[in-house]
This record gives sequence, C-alpha cells and structure tokens, in this order.
Amino acid sequence: MEMNFCRRCGAPLTHLQQHVYECENKHILFANASPTVGIFFVTEDNQVLLSVRGIEPRKGMLDSFGGFVDGAEPLEVAVARELEEELGLKPGDYTAPEYLTSGVGNYPYKNEVLPILSSFFWSRLLTNNLQPQDDVADIATYSLAEVPLEKLHDEDIVHGIKTLQQKLL
Ligand SMILES: [Zn+2]
Repeated sequence: MEMNFCRRCGAPLTHLQQHVYECENKHILFANASPTVGIFFVTEDNQVLLSVRGIEPRKGMLDSFGGFVDGAEPLEVAVARELEEELGLKPGDYTAPEYLTSGVGNYPYKNEVLPILSSFFWSRLLTNNLQPQDDVADIATYSLAEVPLEKLHDEDIVHGIKTLQQKLL
C-alpha cells in the first residue's frame, strides 16, 4: 500500500521505511494491513464448508465466510456479524469460534491492492439451516483432506486451510 498525502493536514508524505510515512508537519502515518476475519465450519466427519464468492474480485472462487473488520470492532464481534450477514446465523447456531491462525493476503479494490491481515477461526455448525446471502453466492462442501487449494481466492485462505488440516487430520 502506498500513501501520497497526509490524512491529517494534506501535505505530501515522505516514505521513511516499510509502512511508515511522515509529512513536513511531522505527522507520522502507518500504512498497516486491513484486518479481516474468516471462519471455517467443519462437520463431525471432517467436511469443510466454504463460500463461493458472489462478487469481484475473484468472483466464483472459494473463500472462508467472513470479511473486513468494521472500524474498531473486536474480532469475535466481526465474526458474529459476518455470519449473520452472509448466512443468516445466530451465535447459538454454531459452537464458539476457536482461533486457528492468521495470514497475510491482498485485496484488489478500486485500482489499489490493499494488504490484508486475516484472523481465522473454526467452529462446528449446530444447524443445517444456512441462507447464503450478501457476497456469498453459494456454499461448497469438501473433504478437508481434499480441498482444491488452487480454487481458494488468496494465499491467506490457503494458509488457513493448511493449518486446519494439520490440526484436525
Ligand atoms: Zn501532516
């Protein structure tokens, strides 16, 4: 991610190092990755449920359920909100999400590639009543051992699935 102007005063920025920028008024800006959450639902016989992306970028590819964290929202709140938005689920419909791992990916958005920092969770569903909506076009179910990694839409999801395989298989 590249930044050109100070968000506090509008002056041009100087790139100091890595993700750190400074303007002529000595304001320091940090170009951190955008936080996202993702969750994998796993059945008792180790089938994993994935989202088929209904929107660009990478429409039609496989994704975890989840999305961008809103503002200063805690991760657990973001997971619950996304599951209600994407699948119509309430917290009683799945076991408490357990933290799995984090991964780094990128997300092309309006001619800019945003670095993202994804926190992954996993859980077991307690209902069969899923209603794909929002940016979820469909739900795909695979044996956890045989998830087609080439169909996952980003490197962070690949890392999440590999970590889940190591944990459960
Ligand atoms: Zn400034």
